Amino acid sequence: MLLTGGTLARLHPPALARADLRIEGDTIVARGPNLRPTRGEAVEDCRGRFIFPGLVCAHTHMYSALSRGMPSPATAPASFPEMLARVWWKLDQALTEEAIYYSAMVGAVEAVKAGTTTIVDHHASPNAIAGSLEIIREALGVVGVRGVLGYEVTDRGGMRRRDAGLAENDRFLTATRADTQFRGLVGAHASFTLRDSSLAALGDLARYHRTGVHIHVAEAKDDDARTRRAHGTGIVDRLERHGLLNDHAVLAHGVHLSGRELARVRSAGAWLVHNPRSNMNNAVGHAPIETFGERAALGTDGWPADMLAELRFAHFREREHLGLRRAYPAAALLQGGQALASEVFGVPFGTLAPGSAADLVVSDYVPPTPLTAATLPGHLLAGVAPSTFTGVMAAGRWVCRGGTPVNIDVDAVYCRARQLAAALWRRMRG
Ligand SMILES: [Zn+2]
Repeated sequence: MLLTGGTLARLHPPALARADLRIEGDTIVARGPNLRPTRGEAVEDCRGRFIFPGLVCAHTHMYSALSRGMPSPATAPASFPEMLARVWWKLDQALTEEAIYYSAMVGAVEAVKAGTTTIVDHHASPNAIAGSLEIIREALGVVGVRGVLGYEVTDRGGMRRRDAGLAENDRFLTATRADTQFRGLVGAHASFTLRDSSLAALGDLARYHRTGVHIHVAEAKDDDARTRRAHGTGIVDRLERHGLLNDHAVLAHGVHLSGRELARVRSAGAWLVHNPRSNMNNAVGHAPIETFGERAALGTDGWPADMLAELRFAHFREREHLGLRRAYPAAALLQGGQALASEVFGVPFGTLAPGSAADLVVSDYVPPTPLTAATLPGHLLAGVAPSTFTGVMAAGRWVCRGGTPVNIDVDAVYCRARQLAAALWRRMRG
């Protein structure tokens, strides 16, 4: 396939260039001016269009897709631990295999409509653990999006469920070792729900599969205090002690890490994933993203995987925090997600250069002011939006055209999702 005449962008550091792209299989194989079509090659005229690499949601929970509009618990949670106990841990326990499938479908549909072609998911379903990651893989595969999946191992449901979670990660990592569309990470809930033997087992699994852990870190203010009370040491210490703090690790939130802990995370090369909408919605505090360093990415933590929407929240919240004299390049977080995907899949994402993954977004965004490398961040914040996306490609295949996912009947999926959501909420009340 040949895409001709488009304006190709890199998000950060921002760059723009007019060039044609040739795609073979799931890879960009050539880029340059005036590429000549080969016999039988499909050609798409992209003149006047703006093309950028597919976006990556670096931390989310697609199992929460069916919670939209869900009634609040009878007694409103007054803290983040109460929010977990009264909402999210009730929801995940009420998930059936069919609810997992449809929540992943809804999550994937919303992702591709928003130009997100890779989803790093953190899954929990304590009453349907075995095979749950395979169900998510199937749903994402139908929509056509890429997934980096892990099961949230935790001690909160007892040792049998903890071991089932470890086994589910192990099985999925083995099954996707050489997969081009799906990979695994070792999922883990958070330090305060994992005893030392559980962290040791997670470390063993990550080392065996030569991969990293994907875990919530210092999301709420008392995560560290709870860890210290139970284990006599901090979260980062515990991760390090069990071999989980390294350049494969994906640490979500990092809101309440101390400056010293952040320095250790940075020097270990672990990824930090910022989730601004979730942080604000759960009132857990402001993450010091200006000190996260280069290995930082953006996640949605259960909100729809619309990364340009998330980018705006990151920008405005950080602006409010830093004041007018200091600027934070929020688009660097989008490029960070693409760099994370590059490491996980072993091919470049986030660049439309030959050899890169053929994951991209074609937009008919018409800039009302000059669009240059210098102005691109402003256009990403204030103008470019999913309503302008004419095509979204993942792994060399169109997955969304003109705002409509091409591989599934969205109306039928949403109709079933609404039924399953109502039943899910009833089970939670019960
Ligand atoms: Zn999360």
